[in-house]
Amino acid sequence: MNTTHEVFNQASALVDVNLYTGNRPLRDALAGLAASAMPALDLAALEAAGAEFGSAAMQRHARLANTHTPVLHTHDRCGRRVDEVEFHPSYHALMGTALRHGLHGAPWAAGPGAHVQRAAAFMLFTEAEPGVLCPVSMSYAVTPALRAHPALHAALGAKLAHRVYDERFVPIAGKAALTMGMGMTEKQGGSDVRSNTTRAVPDGEDAWGQRYLLTGHKWFFSAPMCDAFLVLAQSAGGLSCFFLPRWRPDGTLNAIAIQRLKHKLGNQANASAEVEFHAAHAWRVGEEGRGVPQILAMGALTRLDCALGSAGLMRQALSLALHHTAQRQAFGKPLIAQPLMKNVLADLALESEAATVLALRLAVAVDRSEHGGDAHERVMRRLLTPVAKFWICKRGSAFAQEAMECLGGNGYVEEGGQGVMARIYREMPVNSIWEGAGNIMALDLLRAFRGKDGGADVARALEQECAAARGAHAAFDRAADAVLRQIDGVTEEAQARRLAREVALVLQAALIYRLTPHHGATAVFDAFCDSRLAQASDVFGLLPARHDLELLVARAMPAASA
Ligand SMILES: Cc1cc2nc3c(=O)[nH]c(=O)nc-3n(C[C@H](O)[C@H](O)[C@H](O)COP(=O)(O)OP(=O)(O)OC[C@H]3O[C@@H](n4cnc5c(N)ncnc54)[C@H](O)[C@@H]3O)c2cc1C
Repeated sequence: MNTTHEVFNQASALVDVNLYTGNRPLRDALAGLAASAMPALDLAALEAAGAEFGSAAMQRHARLANTHTPVLHTHDRCGRRVDEVEFHPSYHALMGTALRHGLHGAPWAAGPGAHVQRAAAFMLFTEAEPGVLCPVSMSYAVTPALRAHPALHAALGAKLAHRVYDERFVPIAGKAALTMGMGMTEKQGGSDVRSNTTRAVPDGEDAWGQRYLLTGHKWFFSAPMCDAFLVLAQSAGGLSCFFLPRWRPDGTLNAIAIQRLKHKLGNQANASAEVEFHAAHAWRVGEEGRGVPQILAMGALTRLDCALGSAGLMRQALSLALHHTAQRQAFGKPLIAQPLMKNVLADLALESEAATVLALRLAVAVDRSEHGGDAHERVMRRLLTPVAKFWICKRGSAFAQEAMECLGGNGYVEEGGQGVMARIYREMPVNSIWEGAGNIMALDLLRAFRGKDGGADVARALEQECAAARGAHAAFDRAADAVLRQIDGVTEEAQARRLAREVALVLQAALIYRLTPHHGATAVFDAFCDSRLAQASDVFGLLPARHDLELLVARAMPAASA
């Protein structure tokens, strides 16, 4: 009851908006990519996904899945181990939606363009709820690694692409749809997985080949209710990759003890466990002693999803900021009309668009290289994986803080899970940490720059990507030249972040130039180059006065608020 006052000048909820049709930069990017020889994408499917993911029903599921967090049951009433995590029904509803839209293994069973289609839908789903996308992403990413074990791939490939989610905790043989996870990180080392101590000893052969018994632990083991995992363990020939199911083929529970669930900053809907393996049954995937490259065939694709996920979260935070400031009045006009706020919003819009095009370009490189693409696309895939993961995820937290500030105090308040901006802010850092933290990504880029032919392939690829925008802005030309000069094998490790930042910005500028149509091409590109390449952009809202802030803001406006 408000007996003392009337509630006014508070923004409405941003709900029941179509996340796809209301996202002009994303639509422009997809249209631009389609124009450059991408197979036609199913835009009607993206429109349907955008409507569903932006619905009130999905927002309710996301709130419930984040407030009623997973519960671990280690034993049953009679003392038997069950090692089962129980989720709120909304978690399962979200998983069901993600699988129905083919965000898991579906692209591996489809033709050219499917990875890009999935990437766009994955970004849109992130705006609904990113937590469930952890197992969904791992189930997408596992296929290239699993191919090294033809019998397992033949048995599981179709189940990893099946679109009807099956939440039952039963053996693989009885399920039509599967999800998979990965276990690398141990207490003594996550980045340096060579320090893994989990041991694997041979235990005979069966239909899946050489069987092993695994003994040891994993310190981070997300989505433990996945049906199976790829994990690293030390066997006689060195660190190797193993397939570890939750249930043994004979229908008994595998010896994976879930010790506890992590109490995390964000990512609350998703369970992240600590586990021990007590002579758990596992089957080797790939060559003995080659476990790291083997599992990184999976890790490279979850890195793509980190970039897509952070770009999706940025878009969500931006939409909330634009929607709020369009409705909230201060000092006689809507906040969005205040010149300095307009500069902040326009700058956030630039960052969001740049993240979107960079993440999508990586998805295109994945798609093309999976479908017999040329050497250029393979080099771009190698180059863009660390660059996009590093830069987009790194920018995410600063972005979320600034978008939150646009909402003032309301941005900071949770109120029973309704405070979506607070949830985004807590979620943002995880994409930067897991699957290779920032430094690890920057060092990986350095390795690509020192490639087998001294980086000549990288130089050619960068030249080709930058060619269209050459001469369009002096700062772009200078920055592109500076990046190319570093392909000399002498950049020091301590400078690897600087290099990753410079490569990311040059590629983002080149992509914006190529993919943004009409008047947007010059306005967005010019503003991006002036603010990111000609000067350091340490806080948002520093766009030089000559730019058309109105246009940049209007371009980013979610449809419902326009
Ligand atoms: C919510 C969550 C879920 C996770 N789920 C999983 C999962 O399902 N499976 C799994 O295997 N792992 C998982 N992880 C673990 C994650 O991948 C690791 O935390 C991450 O790889 C970093 O490893 P670490 O924590 O051991 O940190 P460390 O390896 O100790 O690294 C600490 C810091 O040092 C930096 N660093 C390391 N080496 C160097 C170097 N040579 N030069 C410069 N800097 C360096 C890193 O960049 C990092 O910033 C999860 C993590 C989180 C937060």
